[in-house]
Amino acid sequence: MDPNRNDSPNNPRKPGDGQKPRSNIWLALIIAVIALLAISGIYNAVSASQYTQTTWSDFREAYESGNISEAEIQSDRIIYLTKDEAAKPAAQQKACFTGLPSGADTMAMANEMVDRGIKVDRLIVEDNSTLMMILYYLFMGLLIFGLMSMVTRRMSGDSMMGGFGKSKAKVYMEKSTGVTFKDVAGQDEAKESLQEIIDFLHNPQKYTEIGAKLPKGALLVGSPGTGKTLLAKAVAGEANVPFFSMSGSDFVEMFVGMGASRVRDLFQQAAKVAPCIIFIDEIDAVGRTRDNRMGSNSEQEQTLNQLLNEIDGFEPTKGIVCLAATNRPEILDKALLRPGRFDRRIIVDKPNLQGRLDTLKVHTRKIKLSEDVDLRKIAQATAGAVGADLANLVNEAALRAVRQGRKAVNQEDLLVSFETVIAGTEKKNTVLTDMEKRLVAYHEVGHALVAALEKHSQPVSKITIVPHTSGALGYTMQMPEEEKFLSTAEELMTELRTLLGGRAAEQLVFGVKTTGASNDIQRATSLARNMVALYGMSEELGLMAPASVTNQYLDGQSYLDCSQETSAKVDAAVQKLLNRCYEEAKRTLEQNRSLLDEISLYLLAKETITGDELMAYVNADKRQLPDGAQPENPEEKAEDHSEEA
Ligand code: ADP
Ligand code: ZN
Repeated sequence: MDPNRNDSPNNPRKPGDGQKPRSNIWLALIIAVIALLAISGIYNAVSASQYTQTTWSDFREAYESGNISEAEIQSDRIIYLTKDEAAKPAAQQKACFTGLPSGADTMAMANEMVDRGIKVDRLIVEDNSTLMMILYYLFMGLLIFGLMSMVTRRMSGDSMMGGFGKSKAKVYMEKSTGVTFKDVAGQDEAKESLQEIIDFLHNPQKYTEIGAKLPKGALLVGSPGTGKTLLAKAVAGEANVPFFSMSGSDFVEMFVGMGASRVRDLFQQAAKVAPCIIFIDEIDAVGRTRDNRMGSNSEQEQTLNQLLNEIDGFEPTKGIVCLAATNRPEILDKALLRPGRFDRRIIVDKPNLQGRLDTLKVHTRKIKLSEDVDLRKIAQATAGAVGADLANLVNEAALRAVRQGRKAVNQEDLLVSFETVIAGTEKKNTVLTDMEKRLVAYHEVGHALVAALEKHSQPVSKITIVPHTSGALGYTMQMPEEEKFLSTAEELMTELRTLLGGRAAEQLVFGVKTTGASNDIQRATSLARNMVALYGMSEELGLMAPASVTNQYLDGQSYLDCSQETSAKVDAAVQKLLNRCYEEAKRTLEQNRSLLDEISLYLLAKETITGDELMAYVNADKRQLPDGAQPENPEEKAEDHSEEA
């Protein structure tokens, strides 16, 4: 069945005759135009043939010489009969005409002619062109109206040519997606919730016999790239039914009513091939709350109403299941979430360590990996990455292997492409002055050293001062040893100190503040703000949380929801916390100044050093640990790096 056709069994008009009435209108319009043209043509022709056209001077000449016997004054012309003509037999007489200058006083002219003994036949002063004018405007109006309606018809895919504008409405149907749950790594809870839907699509009778009503829709909620589309496709694949997909933003168009007609189209097409899955991506584009606060408009409302109608309209036994995806569930209209509509909410989370490992495994299935590849390490390094990032990472690694003429992807490819994905590709042509390089090196070692000397910090895995396209002149990468779900206040403080360690080193060694620390400071500030306003970790505010989180699945931004006094208190507390951590970081670096110098020089020479190299320095005897921290391997002896440094 062709999904691009509009004619469905429940649609009474048949493909051919549906357009007849419309084309009749057009036919009538065309005939009217031709008739109008013909009439005006004939009119002109008649006036031209009946009279001889002359010039104004001809007329004046005849007039002055008294050669005019009769005249007829019209609003725009004078028709006159010369005495020569008047002498001829009536049948052969031919009158002349000439245009009348605009503004001519026809009454005075007529009187003058009468005085001169000219027979003024008829004096037509009323303007017969007014009628023509009215006709003209009427005709133009009709023409414009016709053109407009043709354009809008075509846009809505319902033109007189039988829906050849259809391709504008992006309804995608896949007979079979070929994706199964095996292709979706992790997301076990989501899969479990969807299992029932698959079972229903396989075997609807089982449910209808017992009188059970299955949900018509489920809402997949999660951050972008977590695999919502993939899951929906996998449901269709597992159930072996066609998959219709459309993005919410496709519904919303410039012309009012278009979105609603697309929704109708989508469900009509789906009904013909049921059982099937309808997937609406970014449903928030249409499903936004229908209040008028955030620029909602009548087009969006109409579309949403139509969507609700369609969902209510289809028989639950028919086997249409509507899946929708969003990363902003909180802005959806409540009507969408009512029982019988998208009442099931399936959370598609960012993957944890195991999930990331599985995702990497899924995506490396068809890729040749060399012996040294350790996917677990990559999974550990990519905390916070979503499935799409990981898929991208694996592909980048494969591309790199090809570029370097190798037959298999190795660990380095994966690590480098991880950096490409998080930090942009290495930018080799940024030239830093020596002073800038020294600053960057000390800054990065400042971060790394604070982290290395702290008890609660995540181990540093790499420090580099190679500039990256993302704009970072260098960075320090920390790799968590294990997946963490909770952070203690002490760990967060450590993170703050680590973030501020860069600036502290600059200040300590060079006595300057640079713009390079801007990102660190922003991150530290937002972390400190969260600690104070969300996690109840400050002395000043205690357990009070004056902020609320708005969109959990996007950037997790929070906003202050409190009085101005409290807000000022929050700011003061944040500042105090940051200052304290900064001072502590600076003190740690001061106490380990020689270590800071040594490692920085080493980094300057090598540009990139590993966490192990860093720890070798740190574990040497010179260290001065901050209060309470214990070295992890006190016995471990440092290697001698002096010649490199
Ligand atoms: P979303 O719809 O949530 O934005 P997609 O489903 O479009 O994300 O995911 C984009 C791509 O990321 C998928 O095509 C797939 O290659 C990869 N991906 C995302 N999540 C997973 C997962 N759990 N397992 C395997 N691949 C995934
Ligand atoms: Zn920094």
